[in-house]
Amino acid sequence: MKRIVIVGVSAAGLTAAETLRRRGWDGHLTLIGDEPHPPYDRPPLSKQILTGDWPAERAVLRSPQDLARLEADLHLGQPATALDVAGRRVHLGGGESIGFDGLIIATGVVPRRLPGSDLAGVHVLRTLDDALALRAALLTGPRVVVVGAGFLGTEVAAAARTMGLEVTVVEPEPVPVRRPFGERIGALVADLHRAHGTRLRCGIPARRLRSAGGRVTGVELGDGTALPADLVVLALGATPATGWLTGSGLRLADGVVCDACCRAAPGIYAAGDVASWPNPHFGTRIRLEHRMNATEQAIAAAGNLLGDATPFAPVPYFWTDQYDTKIQAYGVFPPDADLRVISGDPSNGRFTAAYGHQGVVVGVLGWNAPRELRTLRRLVVERARWTAVTDAGPCPPPTVDRWWQSTRPRTLGVHS
Ligand SMILES: Cc1cc2nc3c(=O)[nH]c(=O)nc-3n(C[C@H](O)[C@H](O)[C@H](O)COP(=O)(O)OP(=O)(O)OC[C@H]3O[C@@H](n4cnc5c(N)ncnc54)[C@H](O)[C@@H]3O)c2cc1C
Repeated sequence: MKRIVIVGVSAAGLTAAETLRRRGWDGHLTLIGDEPHPPYDRPPLSKQILTGDWPAERAVLRSPQDLARLEADLHLGQPATALDVAGRRVHLGGGESIGFDGLIIATGVVPRRLPGSDLAGVHVLRTLDDALALRAALLTGPRVVVVGAGFLGTEVAAAARTMGLEVTVVEPEPVPVRRPFGERIGALVADLHRAHGTRLRCGIPARRLRSAGGRVTGVELGDGTALPADLVVLALGATPATGWLTGSGLRLADGVVCDACCRAAPGIYAAGDVASWPNPHFGTRIRLEHRMNATEQAIAAAGNLLGDATPFAPVPYFWTDQYDTKIQAYGVFPPDADLRVISGDPSNGRFTAAYGHQGVVVGVLGWNAPRELRTLRRLVVERARWTAVTDAGPCPPPTVDRWWQSTRPRTLGVHS
C-alpha cells in the first residue's frame, strides 16, 4: 500500500497517523482536516478552557515538530466534500482530489441545533473556536440557559456556574444524564448541580428560542413558560459528520457502518466518534463519543488497515468533570440495567457502583473514586456474573435504592 489518506485531523485521525508511522509504514500519508487549527483536545473545551484555567494553547495535542515528524501532507482548513470509493479518490472543497490505496475516516460528529441557532447569543460547543467564543460571551456576565443536560450540557452549566453566573438547565428527561447513566445516577447529578446553585428544569422540553432584534432573549418551554436568557447554549447531542460520504456507496446509519475490525469497505476504515461497529465484547453494535475510544479505535483501525485483521473489542472508558466531582465509567450502560453500590456512600460524594444486565456485569462507575474504580474494571473485562456483585461478602453492599430512600428527602430541591 503506497498511499494512505486520513480525513479528520483530531484525536482519532492524529492517532491513526502516528500508529501507521510507529508501525513502520513509510508510504505517502495525507491528512485532511476542515478546521484551521493544528489538532487539539476537546475535553478541556467544556472545562478548563471555558473557566479560563487553561490558555487555549494547552489543549493543542502535538508540537509543530511532532507533526513534522509524521512526514505527512497536512491539508488543514480544507473539508473533504466527497468520496469516490471505486476510483479511490477523496475530493476536497477547493476542487482538488487526492488518490489513496487506504483510507481512514475520522470526521467525528457535528452538534445538533434548533431553529434560531444563528441568533446572536446562541452557542454550541464542539470546536476550539466555539469554546473561545463562548468563554468571551460568559465573561460579559449573562443569564445563561443551557438546553440539554447530557454530559456536555451539564459540564457547560458547571463551568458557567463556577464563573458565578446565573445558570438554568432545561432537559426533557426527568433527570440529567439519564440516557447514559440511568435515573439514579442522573438524580445524583441533579443534586450536585442544585447544591451548587444551578437551576434545573427537567422533564420539560425546550420548544423554541425567543428573540428580539436578532438576539436571543429566552427559551420557551413545552408548557408555554419562558426562561429569560442573554446567552443560550444548545447541548442537544451530535450527529456523525458523514454528509461528505453521501452517495459514496458506504453504508451510513448513525455513523459509518463498519465490521468488527472497523472496516467500512475494502481498504477503508473508520475510527472515533463517527464509527459504528459491532463490539464483540458486548455482542452489540455501538458508536461512542468518548475521548479514550477515539485513541484506541484509531490504533485498531490503522493496524487493521496494515493487515492485522483484529476485531476491536474494548471495554469503553468515559469521564466527566463537574464542579469538584469526577465521574468515571467503564463499560456500557443499558437503560434497563440493574445498579448496585459496591463501595463508599453516595451521600458522602464518593462511591463506586456496578451495572448488571442479563446476568453479567456490563459497567462500573466511580464517583470521585478513581483508584477503586480501576480495580473494579476487571468485573467488566471478565464479564463477571451479576451474582458475584449481588452476593458479595457477609455484609452486602447497600443498593442505591436503599440509599435513595434514606437520603432523597434531605438532598432535594434547592432550586427546581
Ligand atoms: C466540549 C467537549 C468535551 C468533551 N469532554 C469529554 C470528556 O470529558 N470525556 C470523554 O471521554 N470525552 C469527551 N468528549 C468527547 C471527545 O472529545 C471525542 O470523543 C473525541 O474528540 C472524538 O475524536 P474524533 O477524532 O473521533 O472526532 P473529533 O474530535 O470530532 O474530530 C473530527 C475532526 O474531523 C473534522 N471534520 C469533520 N468533517 C470533515 C470533513 N468533511 N473534512 C475534513 N475534516 C472534517 C472535524 O472538524 C474535526 O476536526 C468531549 C467532546 C467535546 C466536544
